[in-house]
Amino acid sequence: MKSKEEGYVLDVLKANVMVDVIRDMNAALDLDGCLKIIIDGVCKVLNVEIGSIMLIDKEEEVLKIKASKGISEDIAKSTKIELGKEISGWVAKQGISLLIKDIEKDHEFFRKGAEKYYTKSLLSIPLKAKDEVIGVLNVNNKVDRDSFNELDLEILTLFVSHASIVIEKICLYEDKKKEAEELAILTKKLKTNKRIISKANELLDKSLYDLTIISEVSKAASSSLSLKECANAIFEVLNEIIDCLTIGMFIVNEKNQSQFIISINSPISYSYLTRLEKETIEGISKRFKDIELAYNREDLILVKDEQKELITKNIKVNLTSYYGVGISFTGNLKGLLCVGHKKIDAFTKEEIRLMEIVAMHANVAVENAILYEKIELLSITDELTGLYNYRYFSSKLDSEILRSQRYKRVFSLIIMDIDDFKLINDNYGHKQGDVVLKTLAKIMKDTTREVNILARYGGEEFTIILPEENIRGAMVVAERIRSNVEKHNFSYIEKGGHLKITISLGVSEYPANGESEDQLVRNADKALYRAKSEGKNKVCCARR
Ligand code: GH3
Ligand code: MG
Ligand code: MG
Repeated sequence: MKSKEEGYVLDVLKANVMVDVIRDMNAALDLDGCLKIIIDGVCKVLNVEIGSIMLIDKEEEVLKIKASKGISEDIAKSTKIELGKEISGWVAKQGISLLIKDIEKDHEFFRKGAEKYYTKSLLSIPLKAKDEVIGVLNVNNKVDRDSFNELDLEILTLFVSHASIVIEKICLYEDKKKEAEELAILTKKLKTNKRIISKANELLDKSLYDLTIISEVSKAASSSLSLKECANAIFEVLNEIIDCLTIGMFIVNEKNQSQFIISINSPISYSYLTRLEKETIEGISKRFKDIELAYNREDLILVKDEQKELITKNIKVNLTSYYGVGISFTGNLKGLLCVGHKKIDAFTKEEIRLMEIVAMHANVAVENAILYEKIELLSITDELTGLYNYRYFSSKLDSEILRSQRYKRVFSLIIMDIDDFKLINDNYGHKQGDVVLKTLAKIMKDTTREVNILARYGGEEFTIILPEENIRGAMVVAERIRSNVEKHNFSYIEKGGHLKITISLGVSEYPANGESEDQLVRNADKALYRAKSEGKNKVCCARR
């Protein structure tokens, strides 16, 4: 059996590097440092030597290099590009990303004087804050390197959308810091009037307090990874500054699915919780006018599991105060941060102001967590078929063995391989081969249950882990897949009509056919090859 392919290993590596860089980026609190982290990170993820971040100088209406890699300091300092001129200027003005695979062959950007080019292929992406272009990120590949492709563009776009939010936050933070510094200078200068001095000091304290809160929330962005952990860190900050009984965070993802994460400070009743959910959902529905929320109680996540005990039928606590603040990313509302209390009018103006600061800065942390979960998913998904990849299969098989060992249970493994797949590629082309692989994945999904773990093991080899299923049960599933594939008319993309394929399968059971990952796979594989040698289009089970 063929092992995982090189291409996908690289992607997982890229995803992992990206997660590290994003974490560093979130921790930065000064713009120059953050830009340097971004450009170094981008170059590392895409494995390139030349890159730059240019920001728009609003007064001069030009782009200037603010951070770079592989560009001499002199050039970095002296470069000024007018908006609309050259590639970066064009990208900044249009706000559109650009992928040039070969600049010599590009009609729009082809320039005479080719000796000027130190680059063959480039990616240029606008950096945006609050929907306004604030600069451009460029990476260049030299003539002797492979060109950038659409996947690179996709990775970079994902990265830049996050970087933009971080840059926006840092600018806000730097503004606040400047404000505090100005206040401090002013306070020093005031010598006479005590009332003015104390007022100034009060303002300064407030300003410094705000700064502390912002940096605490920013820390949450850099230290936590899962959405639940991230919410927990934000709740801890809120708990310090607001007197409340419950804190909730309601987050809606791109598919309009929502999660309600909640933290409770002392025992509350079901009716209180229901009321908090209702208020939050109503609050958010009013703001998300055109979105129908797919929320159900199953999505409720308690920050600490033992908090379930804090929700009780016997205690009578009513929710009488409620406050919710929107969490937005680049202008789009994505969630709501809310607090509740049993006291009437529990929240002071100052508490609400602080909560708004937290919500405003929590977005980076939340976006980071969502992005991290997305990258995690990407790094375990096979791009072509949408099934899990080898990495995930292997780790799942490992944990399934541990689980079954502990609870003395069985589980089964199916390995399958398409019969004469080479002929499909040879006769109909690679593209048609890919269509067959995708369709086969769909048949597998439709034929199996949710609890089964379907993975693409290698090129045209697939595996299924069937928890709690013995070999007899697994043989039935394998036979059903075999028969469904045999019956299926695979669409023939070029000429219409259809083509037929068949598959062979091998099945093994834990622990009878092996107690280790290796043995189980080897025995299922042996059974598969028996099926092949006995004429293909067949299911065979491992021998004990
Ligand atoms: P057998 O019945 O013995 O399995 O014959 P086979 O032709 O399927 O032989 P084998 O399993 O060795 O061939 C695998 C072929 O699958 C070779 C390779 O070109 C093709 N393949 C692997 N990955 C992909 C892919 O991602 N897309 C396409 N279209 N073809 C792939
Ligand atoms: Mg094969
Ligand atoms: Mg094959």
